[in-house]
Amino acid sequence: MMRLIVAFIFILSVSDIFGYTILIDPGHGGEDHGASGYYKKGKKRYSIKEKDLALGIALRLKEKLSKNYSTYLTRSIDRTLTLANRAEIADKVKADLFISIHINASKKKSSNGFETYYLDNHDDAAVKKVEEVENKDLKGEALIIDKILTDLVIDRTVTSSKGLAKSIHGQIRKKIKRKYRMVDRGVKPGLFYVLALAKRPAILLEAGFISNYREVGKMRTKKFQEAYATAVADGIHLYLKDKIKKKPSLF
Ligand SMILES: [Zn+2]
Repeated sequence: MMRLIVAFIFILSVSDIFGYTILIDPGHGGEDHGASGYYKKGKKRYSIKEKDLALGIALRLKEKLSKNYSTYLTRSIDRTLTLANRAEIADKVKADLFISIHINASKKKSSNGFETYYLDNHDDAAVKKVEEVENKDLKGEALIIDKILTDLVIDRTVTSSKGLAKSIHGQIRKKIKRKYRMVDRGVKPGLFYVLALAKRPAILLEAGFISNYREVGKMRTKKFQEAYATAVADGIHLYLKDKIKKKPSLF
């Protein structure tokens, strides 16, 4: 009897967490390489692309989240996807959360560290630079229409997106910062159209800098990617656990 009760309690507690759908979005893909850089091995240099690093982390994250949630990827292979394609997938799978994974780049080779963005309006010049790269497949009229949509989406999702960003970033700080000697660049607002088009609580992760060969050397390792994916999964899990306690709806 006791064992039955224990089993029943267990089912109740996990079913609170099941039922959420998470969509992981590895940035770029196919013809869109994203940023590129190189890493050193001995005296040799090897080139590396943002699209491949992002996919590597995304696949590991999917494996971890699949244990507790319905989890999807916008792409599981190297293929071209527009920002609109990614948003369509979010609607199709009825995602509750949208997690976009990217690798940062800077003309300044010494730039380094991890940062987490959530969708919001702002006029921070440093952030704008990142956005130009990540928003580059939208131009002119499409951009104007999407700006209107963005305002509506921000109103509805900003609290959740910011909470999710903070929870995930906190876990990255805890599990990555000291171990991999990486700089914490913080949680930041950003106007990323892929997040607006997704129309749900969404964040964009910049795991580190591809333009810094030392940082790429860390990010390309299985160990780093596993630790980073674990941090992100734990951050999502903590956010959802807390959310369930307060109110069932994410919107
Ligand atoms: Zn990117």
